[in-house]
Amino acid sequence: MFCKNCGQMINDGQQVCLNCGVKAGSGSAFCANCGNQVTPGADVCTKCGASVKAGGFGKYDKMTIALICFFLGGLGIHNFMLGENKKGIVRIVASLCFGLGYILALIDFVKILTDNYTVDPNGII
Ligand SMILES: [Zn+2]
Ligand SMILES: [Zn+2]
Repeated sequence: MFCKNCGQMINDGQQVCLNCGVKAGSGSAFCANCGNQVTPGADVCTKCGASVKAGGFGKYDKMTIALICFFLGGLGIHNFMLGENKKGIVRIVASLCFGLGYILALIDFVKILTDNYTVDPNGII
């Protein structure tokens, strides 16, 4: 990914940008997906179409997703809202079987609150 503050390339798993020193994922001046400079206030990158909104939850804000995850996470509602349909289905099935979907949702909830949640439309867990 790219630093959203200065546009420099940063490695996956790296916590801070070595160029400008801000936490990876913070800032909104550059696209994290392609490094293109984005217009202030824009919702998506005009070059690659990726969402550039702060928090990385598309059109939803962090607290909305966190609350929905907490109360409805076992049914995968927050996953469906973020376009993670496979994850949502896994949570419903896991909840129906052993209630495990709620444990997965609780892990998501903690990740969302600590800014460690990554939206992955192809992920299953
Ligand atoms: Zn930077
Ligand atoms: Zn882009």
